[in-house]
Amino acid sequence: MGRQVKRAFRYRFYPTGEQAAELSRTFGCVRLVYNKALEERTRAWYGEKRRISYVQSSAALTQWKKTKELAFLTEVSSVPLQQALRHLQTAFANFFAKRAKYPRYKSRKKSRASAEYTRSAFTWREGQLTLAKMAQPLDIRWSRPLPEDAEPTTVSVSRDAAGRWFVSLLCEDTIAPAPATNAAVGLDAGITTLVTLSTGEKIANPRHERQDRARLARAQRELSRKVKGSANREKARHKVAKVHARIADRRRDFLHKLSTRLVRENQTVVIEDLTVRNLLKNGHLARAISDAAWTDLRMMLEYKCAWYGRELVVIDRFFPSSKLCGNCGTVGAKLPLHVREWTCEHCGAVHDRDVNAARNILAAGLAASACGDGVRPQRESSRTGRSSVKQEPQRATAGIPRL
Ligand SMILES: [Zn+2]
Repeated sequence: MGRQVKRAFRYRFYPTGEQAAELSRTFGCVRLVYNKALEERTRAWYGEKRRISYVQSSAALTQWKKTKELAFLTEVSSVPLQQALRHLQTAFANFFAKRAKYPRYKSRKKSRASAEYTRSAFTWREGQLTLAKMAQPLDIRWSRPLPEDAEPTTVSVSRDAAGRWFVSLLCEDTIAPAPATNAAVGLDAGITTLVTLSTGEKIANPRHERQDRARLARAQRELSRKVKGSANREKARHKVAKVHARIADRRRDFLHKLSTRLVRENQTVVIEDLTVRNLLKNGHLARAISDAAWTDLRMMLEYKCAWYGRELVVIDRFFPSSKLCGNCGTVGAKLPLHVREWTCEHCGAVHDRDVNAARNILAAGLAASACGDGVRPQRESSRTGRSSVKQEPQRATAGIPRL
């Protein structure tokens, strides 16, 4: 007995010269189509407050292909171009629903180059993946096995700034059920420690991250000294991208292990709705916060809770978790960030700042959870003071995981 989920499996691959050229051409066309459609939508929206639909964008694409200047769009597979328009459609739907900012243009240098192929644009035979317009299958390094009898429904190809090629296969997978438990845990996103649990456990940043960061700083300094447009600058840029890629890989690994563990061990996981943007305003914390990768962890917790039938409760970020005494419920004075330990003036309890915060987060989350599944509790004024608690729906589709 298990749960059927869609899950993405990501691997490196090594294209032939011909394949690399075909993919680079496709990436360029995808970017062009996306940007051009965005430009039209922007003109319609800001000029006439008119919305352009996916169908209209798609019809425009057909017209572009007929013009002399854009006839080259017909040389690549049409599916990734259609998918780019679908992605744009999603970006606008999120914007109109106020879930996201206005969509941005894809830049050749800054955006990750990628192309998405749906079922009609690739063949999958005996573990061999061949994309449209290609004669040979991709040379994929199967670093971990695909689930048995997996049939990829969507395939996405990308190249990162370090020049590495990846293919991500979206497959149906069966998730084994997690052991039954009633345990619950609260998480406090940290600055000195990555995460503090309400159990008192502190989880440090991944190993090597400090060294890697020093290496990154060095590589960035070197890059800044190189003359713009020179071959040496290109080399230095590549070096920076490689260090970045390694940090990201290690961090993702670490967060996957951590989130899996937390979800397997607990029926309820409570987190605070920290908006990274707010924390980033404090420049001193910026690096620590971005490294802490709180948003990545939250996304992983979201879909893994859905996979394993666990509950993720997200509490309001204005909840005074660190200055609220977990013992007597008194809200203390504002705590400066360097204060790691404090004593409650009312009851005399001595608190580790982060553990106290994690416990308060857990208590607030459990109170919200008791109000009923899927119900958004009203603002309440109990002993937790001004806490307003909200529960987010668990979306099974929230962020398709990459492995
Ligand atoms: Zn107290």
